Formats: sequence, C-alpha cells, structure tokens
Amino acid sequence: MNASQPILIVTGGSRGIGASVAVGAARRGYGVVINYKDNRKQADAIVSEIVEAGGKAVAIQGDVGREPDVERLFSETDKALGHVTALVNNAGILGPLGRIETVPGPALAELFAINVAGAMLCAREAVKRMSTKHGGKGGAIVNVSSALARLGGAGETVPYAATKGAIETFTFGLAQEVVSEGIRVNAVAPGVIDTEIHPADRMARLGPALPMKRPGRPDEVANAILWLLSSEASYVSGAILGVSGAR
Ligand code: NAP
Repeated sequence: MNASQPILIVTGGSRGIGASVAVGAARRGYGVVINYKDNRKQADAIVSEIVEAGGKAVAIQGDVGREPDVERLFSETDKALGHVTALVNNAGILGPLGRIETVPGPALAELFAINVAGAMLCAREAVKRMSTKHGGKGGAIVNVSSALARLGGAGETVPYAATKGAIETFTFGLAQEVVSEGIRVNAVAPGVIDTEIHPADRMARLGPALPMKRPGRPDEVANAILWLLSSEASYVSGAILGVSGAR
C-alpha cells in the first residue's frame, strides 16, 4: 500500500460513465475501487484493463441501495487499498418509465433508495474517512446528477428527474457542511450520454434532436468528473457542472 496514492471509489464502475471514470482515474495515478451490483464479468474486465496498463484496481460488489453493502464496500476498500480520498457517486437507475399514473410504489422506493439514499450513505462513509475532524486528510466527492434535474423529464422520467433534483440539493448542502474539513463536494449534470442505461431505441430517437445532433460519450462526462476531483478544481465546491452539449 502506497500511503500517498489517491484512492478512488466509483460506484457503478462496471459500465458506462463509471467505467470511463475508473479507467481515466487509474491513468491519472489513482488506486481505483470499481463497485458494481450484478455485472461481475464487466467489472473484472475493467480491473484487468487497468492492471494490464500498470495501474491498481479492485472490483467490489455491493448494492448502494442497501446500507450493509455500502458499509462493506468502504471497509473492504480500507483493507484492499487504504482510506478513500475520492468518491464518485455514479451508480444509478432510470426506474419506472411513463406518466405518473403508471408508477408502482415499490419501484419508486427502489429508485430513491439507489439514486438518493445510496449516494448519501456512500458520502457518509467517505466523510467518516476523509474529514480532518475525524483525523482524515480531506478528499473530494463528485455526485452524478442529470440535466433532467432542471428539465423535469415530463411524460417519461419525472421520478428519475426528481431523484437528481435531490442529489443537487444534497450537493449544495453537504459541500457547505464539510468544506472546512478538507472535503470538496460537487456534481456533474450530464445530458443524453450513450450508455446501456437507455432503452434500445432511445439513442436513435433522441440523438439527432439534441443541440449537438449527437449524444455525449461516457469519456466526455468522465473528463469533467476527473477535473472536479483534481487539485485544478481546488476552489470549486458546491458546483453543478453541466455536461450536456447545450441541452
Ligand atoms: P449504466 O451504463 O446503466 O451503468 C450503471 C452502473 O451502475 C453499472 O455499473 C451498474 O452495475 C451500476 N448500478 C446500478 N444499480 C446499482 C446499485 N444498486 N448498486 C451499485 N451499482 C449499481 O449507467 P450510466 O448511463 O453510465 O449512468 C451512470 C450515472 O449517470 C447514473 O447515476 C445516471 O443516472 C447518470 N446519468 C446518465 C445519463 C445518460 O444519458 N447515460 C445522463 C445523465 C445522468 P452492474 O453493471 O453490476 O449492473
């Protein structure tokens, strides 16, 4: 274990934006924990890609919507790589699609447990380890919101958009709560990004109608996240950085 190496946990790092963050962070010298829920094969493939390029990474399973899993994710990280210094709260689901009349209660509860409570529980465990108040050396947290927090998602994804509104308020509040303890907290708000989160026909339907006439790529969001984590953003906290191609 190298005490001076920055250690990143990226939740939902097996695919999409999270996988791109993991690979980019390893290139920048972080030891990386790739959290995933089901997709062990893909998480292991990202670990292999990093290790083969000379970096350090481990995959740790855990559902961020379950408190014992979150606690285990952080304690296993402590053992494998040391205390976390950077957290990307990226794991998220779209939840039920359709108008409000069609939304089942249990699906709403699951959506908020993963997208909102999950991010808060991970932040809680990170702050316990990063805060100078608890003997830590500080750190940085980036939450992944969505342009839909501002746009609302009418007709299709209103509950999902509302989870991202909660994430943005959480970002402002937590940033103020811990800024004097060496921790910066920011968020990115991506527009439509080409990942597996979207139903099969969605990219073809939405892509050409976007201001840039194309969806974003995961690495275009990852670059913004990695900048917010870096010392180049040393006076940036409580910010929501749009990565939406002017959407
Ligand atoms: P994605 O391709 O569907 O990947 C989702 C990742 O999250 C996977 O690694 C998945 O793990 C993991 N995950 C899902 N539920 C989890 C849980 N309960 N616990 C732990 N991990 C879990 O998604 P993405 O498009 O990259 O989205 C990443 C983040 O960006 C999300 O917060 C999403 O809301 C946000 N976002 C995406 C877009 C977009 O257009 N793509 C736009 C705005 C915001 P497994 O592989 O094990 O299933």
